[in-house]
Amino acid sequence: MQKPIRSKRCQLYLALSTAAAAALLSLFVFLPQQEMPGEQPAPASSAVQVQALSDSAEAAETEGFGLYIDGVFIAACDERAEIDDSLGTLLSMRTAEVTDDCLEAAFVNEVSVVPDSYAEETYVQPEELDALLGIESEDSLSHTILTYDGSEAEVAISVRATVVESEEAAIPYETVEVYNDQRVEGYEQVLEEGAEGLSVTDYEAVYVDGELQTRSVLSVRTVEEPVDRQVEYGTAVKTSVFSWPYQGRISSYFGGRTLGGEYNYHNGLDIVAYSGSCYGDSIKAASDGVVTVARYYDAGGYGKYVVIRHADGTETYYAHMSAVLVNVGDRVQEGDVIGKIGSTGFSTGPHLHFGVMVNGQLVDPLPYLN
Ligand SMILES: [Zn+2]
Repeated sequence: MQKPIRSKRCQLYLALSTAAAAALLSLFVFLPQQEMPGEQPAPASSAVQVQALSDSAEAAETEGFGLYIDGVFIAACDERAEIDDSLGTLLSMRTAEVTDDCLEAAFVNEVSVVPDSYAEETYVQPEELDALLGIESEDSLSHTILTYDGSEAEVAISVRATVVESEEAAIPYETVEVYNDQRVEGYEQVLEEGAEGLSVTDYEAVYVDGELQTRSVLSVRTVEEPVDRQVEYGTAVKTSVFSWPYQGRISSYFGGRTLGGEYNYHNGLDIVAYSGSCYGDSIKAASDGVVTVARYYDAGGYGKYVVIRHADGTETYYAHMSAVLVNVGDRVQEGDVIGKIGSTGFSTGPHLHFGVMVNGQLVDPLPYLN
């Protein structure tokens, strides 16, 4: 491949040389007066003309393409593609030194390929041009640029690379407060644990020889939405603090529950003995108050039960009694025995059902118990 190109160029040179000599003669006779009017106002002497013609004729020139970097002539090639190939290899190797994920790369230097007539000795073969540009092998690159005659060119190659960079960032979650007037003030429960989301920001970054120059946001994507943290707060005003009507353990809490395979809403606390049966054990008034209900039987499920109204308007309920020991209108004091534990009404076994009513609503008694 190389020899045919070389010989073709040589033939081209020979064909052109005689014609060029004639053309140059007329140029040099004519041009100096116009190109350098300041330096040579007088008509050029014949000696100068002869000298110029003589130099041109001695320097064998041929048409080709010259590579210039920052104005410095590097070498000439027969084909423009040969120079473009070498420049392409140099650019990709220099870029690869900095990034392996490049969107766009370019020389910062002023690189030009100029079609013109160049002296024969300035012509190089493609692999020679590679060597001049410092391309030693596929993965070896010298940063020294040489010109066609092997001398070092005062040129430093600089490459601008545009890359896309992505960064992940957490999206903080928000905390949502849920207010519940069925719970007393001070009640706090996490309903839902928050979870951070994830976003990805794509940047277009420009590096010159590995040094970051500019960076701009291309896009911001939400990969995962954050999950709100939900916290429930009770808002019911806490007016009374009650003592335990029976010292035992809670067998069923306030709120939703499954009983006999069916969901039901439990509007109080069920309390049983820590061990053994609580049947017949004493039930005490949770606070001072007046008895407003003392029923021997309730068809709604409470069985025998008592309600005591307290000074601030709150009421306490005591249900499923085996015996009621107070009457409506009785004034009781905290700790007074008002009845006996039983299993009357809707009950699966002996226990005390204790309820607290605030502002006409049965609320969770637990926060009210001290
Ligand atoms: Zn109950």
